[in-house]
Amino acid sequence: MIVQKYGGTSVGSAARIRRVCRRIAAAVADGEQVVAVVSAMGHTTDRLIALAESVNPEPPARELDMLVANGETITAPLVAMCLQGMGVPAVSLSGLQAGVRTSAHHSRARIHDIRPDRILQTLEEGKVAVVAGFQGVTEELEVTTLGRGGSDTTAVALAGALRASACEIYTDVDGIYSADPRVVKTARKLSHIRYDEMLELAAAGARVMHPRAVEIGELYDVPIHVRSSFNNRVGTMIVGQVPMEDRQRVRGIAQEKNVAKITVLGVKDRPGVAAAIFEPLGTAGISVDVIVQNVGHSGRTDLTFSVQESDLKAAEKLVRVAAKSVGARKVSSAGGIAKLSIVGTGMLGMPGIAGRMFRALADAGINIEMISTSEIRITCLVSRDQVEKGVRTLHKTFELDV
Ligand code: ADP
Ligand code: ASP
Ligand code: MG
Repeated sequence: MIVQKYGGTSVGSAARIRRVCRRIAAAVADGEQVVAVVSAMGHTTDRLIALAESVNPEPPARELDMLVANGETITAPLVAMCLQGMGVPAVSLSGLQAGVRTSAHHSRARIHDIRPDRILQTLEEGKVAVVAGFQGVTEELEVTTLGRGGSDTTAVALAGALRASACEIYTDVDGIYSADPRVVKTARKLSHIRYDEMLELAAAGARVMHPRAVEIGELYDVPIHVRSSFNNRVGTMIVGQVPMEDRQRVRGIAQEKNVAKITVLGVKDRPGVAAAIFEPLGTAGISVDVIVQNVGHSGRTDLTFSVQESDLKAAEKLVRVAAKSVGARKVSSAGGIAKLSIVGTGMLGMPGIAGRMFRALADAGINIEMISTSEIRITCLVSRDQVEKGVRTLHKTFELDV
């Protein structure tokens, strides 16, 4: 049994849906039981969000999920009927029908549980199960979505729950590259990458895989094959261990443009202040990323942190309330920034990498606003209009160019 996921570009038109169906039909002809997870066609999700905002600038989260889930709900039956037209029995299933149960966080729900009875029944009947990605339901049967790019997560979670022998993510590039191949022409395709490295790259903005999909893949030990739906070339395997020659210091560069920062000025330097500011954000499901607290002076300090720019309005509202309650002097915010990250397990215990990164950015005239690190990642926040130049600079600095 294999799970195949087809992304938005791959199902972007009737002709492309027919091509995808020929690929599914070939797998069926090879004797595979196929679960096909599909995304919304082309830019459908973007269009639905824009439509929502044109009738309400702050669309209520529940209704927005009811709306955007429809993108995938359209693709799945189109793929199923196309397969049937080719003589391949197939049934489309919504997230609810496929048994995808999630948390109640609209637009960023997490899969809690998969109840795959209906999929198994479909496969037993000798049919392809075509599942609408990105969507699920809560215990109360409220429709949720998994966050942008979340169809990957549907696919990997299904592969884990069904103990599929393979999980293939079909997309519009040939695999995972050392940087976004649309930004860095000399980017190199990786034959393998470790889950932890891919997770850091994905979390740092490499949108080729949804971070949660990588996490679930590691948890359930699902090897993930990321490859192109436009050719038959072998792509990139995301796995637990990579061959020796793939263990370079820096494996990839990522960028994320949807970043804004919030600064809380003049907060009292005492226990509980950070908790008071961040707890409401957590409750609202808003992730805070890079956090910098200045050294205190005369009992007060400043706190700056980044959020996704799309969360800025909601976050600022909550922070203003919290800031007032802890007696902060002022709250300010700014958009237009971006994250620039280098990732690689080979960086562990390798001194000098950070210095090389900062020197290269300085020589390119790029100012660093904030810095954060994990064991295998260094991230700099820079001005958004300089981030692509930064990606290319670092790609060269760390000798990743082909
Ligand atoms: P899909 O619709 O198939 O899910 P996405 O647009 O979500 O496709 O992801 C594929 C895109 O990810 C590519 O077109 C590419 O521009 C971008 N991308 C960013 N970083 C990388 C990377 N390191 N390797 C490959 N693709 C990347
Ligand atoms: N259609 C959704 C999006 O555009 C989910 C996905 O494509 O994975 O984000
Ligand atoms: Mg995607």
